[in-house]
Amino acid sequence: MRVNPSHPRYASLVIREKLVDGLKKGITSQAGLLAHGRGETFDYLLGEKTNHFAIKAIKAAAACLLLAKTPIISINGNSAALAGKEFVTLAKLINSKVEVNLFHRSEKRVKLIENYLSKFDRKFILQSTYKNRTFIPNIQSPRSIVLNNGIKKADTVFVPLEDGDRCEVLSKLGKKVIAVDLNPLSRTARNAYITIVDNLTRAMPVLIEEISYLKSKKPYYMNKLLDKYDNKKNLNSAYDKMIQNIKQVL
Ligand code: ATP
Repeated sequence: MRVNPSHPRYASLVIREKLVDGLKKGITSQAGLLAHGRGETFDYLLGEKTNHFAIKAIKAAAACLLLAKTPIISINGNSAALAGKEFVTLAKLINSKVEVNLFHRSEKRVKLIENYLSKFDRKFILQSTYKNRTFIPNIQSPRSIVLNNGIKKADTVFVPLEDGDRCEVLSKLGKKVIAVDLNPLSRTARNAYITIVDNLTRAMPVLIEEISYLKSKKPYYMNKLLDKYDNKKNLNSAYDKMIQNIKQVL
């Protein structure tokens, strides 16, 4: 369906179309559409814009990804359909790789997503094989299946649209988890090291810009930026914003 740019909900409709298209290609799962619906609700409450707390988290995330020794970008079907190209750009910028990790996993879907992302630059996409695969214990879903040269050895995991269980386990393993989640109340949001409370489609270009800027700075500057960052305080700003937005219409 062609969406008319004059429609008041144009941006939101374009995103929906991308996901429906992803579903047709076999990249997005049906459950992924429902997860997106949950996100839309929170986006509405947040004013459908990149708020100051999201910018703060993006700056900290940029510093954290640049300081990481073995960062990895873990993406699912929704992330691939919404911002596949941007994830590959990010991987290039931080010299990392993209690993496909799915809750509703099938080998076919993993391959479809890997192939889809490979169109942007194959060098940056890890290819899942039975040989390079391993398990992370205590995750009660196929998200426990990870790659030895990816999430398993990573010190920092960038996981947009994560599920709470895995975020908790990865954090307990000492990995720094950076999440993008429109729901600041989710277990993911509360367990991540850095939570970017924003729509993935808006946050990714800002993160790319910030990393391009920070790249020329000294590690001392980035460490200072990261030290100043407090995820709990930042999440509180997101809760306040939602309350403010509701009060405004009362
Ligand atoms: P948790 O397990 O962390 O408590 P959950 O069960 O709500 O969270 P899922 O249903 O696995 O999480 O994933 C959907 C999450 O992704 C929701 O929290 C939703 O707000 C978020 N989300 C969906 N679409 C987007 C998007 N485009 N950008 C950012 N976040 C999104």
